[in-house]
Amino acid sequence: HKKEFDVVVIGAGPAGLAAAYVLAKAGINVIVFEKGEYPGSKNVMGGVLYSNAMEKLVPEFYKEAKVERNIIEQNMWLLGDNSLTKIGHKNKTWVEKPNAFTVLRANFDRWFASKVEAAGALIIPKTKVEDFLRDGSGKIVGVRTTRPNGDVYAKAVIIAEGVNPILTMKAGLRDKDLKSNMAAIAVKELIEMPEEVINDRFNVTSDQGATIELLGSWSKGLFGLAFIYTNRKTVSVGCGVFIEDIKKSGMKPYELLESLKNHPAVKDLLGEEPKVMEYMAHLIPEGGYHAMPRFYDDNVLACGDAAMMVNSIHREGSNYALTSGRFAAETLIEAFDRGDFSKRTLKIYEEKLRESFIIKDLLKYKDLPRTLEKNPQLVQVYPDLVNDAFGKFLTVDGTSKWDLQKEIIDEVRRRRGIIPMVNDLFKLWKAVR
Ligand code: FAD
Repeated sequence: HKKEFDVVVIGAGPAGLAAAYVLAKAGINVIVFEKGEYPGSKNVMGGVLYSNAMEKLVPEFYKEAKVERNIIEQNMWLLGDNSLTKIGHKNKTWVEKPNAFTVLRANFDRWFASKVEAAGALIIPKTKVEDFLRDGSGKIVGVRTTRPNGDVYAKAVIIAEGVNPILTMKAGLRDKDLKSNMAAIAVKELIEMPEEVINDRFNVTSDQGATIELLGSWSKGLFGLAFIYTNRKTVSVGCGVFIEDIKKSGMKPYELLESLKNHPAVKDLLGEEPKVMEYMAHLIPEGGYHAMPRFYDDNVLACGDAAMMVNSIHREGSNYALTSGRFAAETLIEAFDRGDFSKRTLKIYEEKLRESFIIKDLLKYKDLPRTLEKNPQLVQVYPDLVNDAFGKFLTVDGTSKWDLQKEIIDEVRRRRGIIPMVNDLFKLWKAVR
């Protein structure tokens, strides 16, 4: 006989779980399909989860969830070959009012999935959704899964499949697959480190943690962002670069990770021979606003990575996924009230996205991916220049400060030129203003 649910959710990442949680709590009959062995098993994240989006779902979730450390310090490191310039911010108000936690997705997603099940949703792991079921007029009325007799009918389907937009395309929400300049390849290692050593090296206490984002020499002239995050008894270290750039360079992502780990300042933190427990690689959708698909059609909505909702400069992705999942669910609750799942009602989803930080922020940064792509000098010239300038200015060797200043200005002229530098700053400002 025909299997029917109110709503089918594809994917049990933060987007799918958030959607299922809100729907189940409203008494709606929801089923989630996850192709992985269990929720979180296939998921990779650097691991900073901002609290705000999660607290809107489960207030004070961190008291029961599997989180690692409360992030009370965030740093940006600009690496030169043998030097380092740091900017950091430590904030004690985050101790009482947590802003972000490090998480290991395998643990966190599994905990969240148990909450979703307790709320009444059904989560079916090891099951891939392959296609949609459609009615005579072509409208989506369910999904076809890899299970025997695995067709499931529903009034609406939420696509939360993550970065590979296979079903998003099949639903007609995206016309073309991601291009290589719309996604970054990220690699990450989990490094074992005793709790006290982490506390000592990162200058934190056991419950509290620090993050470091790193730009500069490690990426060998490609635009890339690397990260080092403290977990309770492990440290996450990883880096991401645009697929297009790495293809052109002929390098491999793990070579860049090695280059990062071999930097003397990074070695000081990770030790001479860090013990790697896990190596992971994953894509990050970084095409920005211009590369987003349509968000909905009759009976179907797309959220999270599937809809290109990532702001990687601020390493925000999971919070976009959680929030868009919640918006999709709230929209469907309204659709149930109206008894209408057509575009007419589902457009509420897009309105919610546009009124929220998600589209506002992605619009703000809409030109950044292209600006970075077209201006490789931003990463090829400046990190070294800044490090060399600081190095010169802070080395006392009998040269007068006037002469030092002149040497630094001459260096800027030689490596980039004053007017091109002002131009670069203007372009960068324009891309993020
Ligand atoms: P996912 O988490 O990818 O979940 C999608 C799920 O759908 C998966 O479990 C997958 O198995 C399942 N699935 C896919 N297709 C099917 C199918 N056909 N049938 C059934 N199941 C299917 N974000 C942050 O907020 N902070 C960070 O520090 C951060 N760091 C990151 C570091 C790295 C290295 C990477 C790769 C990403 C990082 N992100 C970070 C981004 C973040 O991980 C994503 O934005 C977020 O996971 C998106 O959630 P999602 O639910 O949309 O997709």
